[in-house]
Amino acid sequence: MTRAAWHVATVAEARQETPTSRRIALDIPTWPGNEAGAHLDLRLTAEDGYQASRSYSIASSGPGTRVVLAIAEVDGGEVSPFLVHDLQVGDQIEVHGPLGAFFVWRPARDGAPGDAADSSAGADAAAMPRPVQLIAGGSGVVPLFAMASAHAAAADATPFRLLYSVRTPEDLFFADDLAALAAAPEPTRLALDVVYTRQAPAGATRAPGRLTADVLGELVWPVEREPRIFVCGPTPFVESVADWLVAAGHPASSIRTERFGGA
Ligand SMILES: Cc1cc2nc3c(=O)[nH]c(=O)nc-3n(C[C@H](O)[C@H](O)[C@H](O)COP(=O)(O)OP(=O)(O)OC[C@H]3O[C@@H](n4cnc5c(N)ncnc54)[C@H](O)[C@@H]3O)c2cc1C
Repeated sequence: MTRAAWHVATVAEARQETPTSRRIALDIPTWPGNEAGAHLDLRLTAEDGYQASRSYSIASSGPGTRVVLAIAEVDGGEVSPFLVHDLQVGDQIEVHGPLGAFFVWRPARDGAPGDAADSSAGADAAAMPRPVQLIAGGSGVVPLFAMASAHAAAADATPFRLLYSVRTPEDLFFADDLAALAAAPEPTRLALDVVYTRQAPAGATRAPGRLTADVLGELVWPVEREPRIFVCGPTPFVESVADWLVAAGHPASSIRTERFGGA
């Protein structure tokens, strides 16, 4: 991973992502590129010199200097309401990054399985790719979307699956993009499962409700397939999911987590 540094970023685009979140594209001429799953620290400075910084995952990856974020408004929060409602196209902010070498997925070349060098399956990885299971709660989908997009862009042959827990259909981040990834031809097709916690869409086979260990067990690659698992979302979500995965027999060494904070 490229060494992290401070950069000046200009807001190039901003659009509503869901009723309570916003997708923001930053132009960062000095950005060195980033791996899928990386994050950055964003710093705001008020006219009186007061500063506040928060971490945000990067929804984009690769060598480009356009960096995409997706930010959910946290009620009563100090920074996220400003980013969702007030930050304007043309504004400049400071960012530090790219950060996070652990919670990343790297596509391999020539359609071989991604991240083979990082796989505990070792030399057998190329012959029997370990599938990748992504598990997101709410805005925790951001770095996982970057991984799924990088997987598709690289035409990587690793089987990819995303389990996405979200309150209602209108709260889905990257809804159209995920639908496109789920409709892509094999071998890059994303297997997509969505669990709605408060309101399911018309015709849904599963009643709305919080993710449980049983539902998780139905919707993730089984232990026998030795998936590599990335879990991201609010702290309680990540902790519950990680506990259930370990209880189901997935080795802790196969599970990587990223916590977004919150009670
Ligand atoms: C590595 C990393 C990546 C992140 N990526 C993203 C991202 O891609 N998109 C995104 O929207 N957020 C992301 N976050 C969360 C983000 O850093 C902030 O915590 C969030 O935007 C809230 O900041 P705030 O200043 O509005 O709230 P604060 O003023 O910091 O907090 C206000 C209250 O809300 C609670 N709270 C803080 N964060 C959350 C949360 N995520 N959910 C629920 N309650 C919370 C606090 O405990 C506090 O009680 C990431 C966090 C980390 C550590």
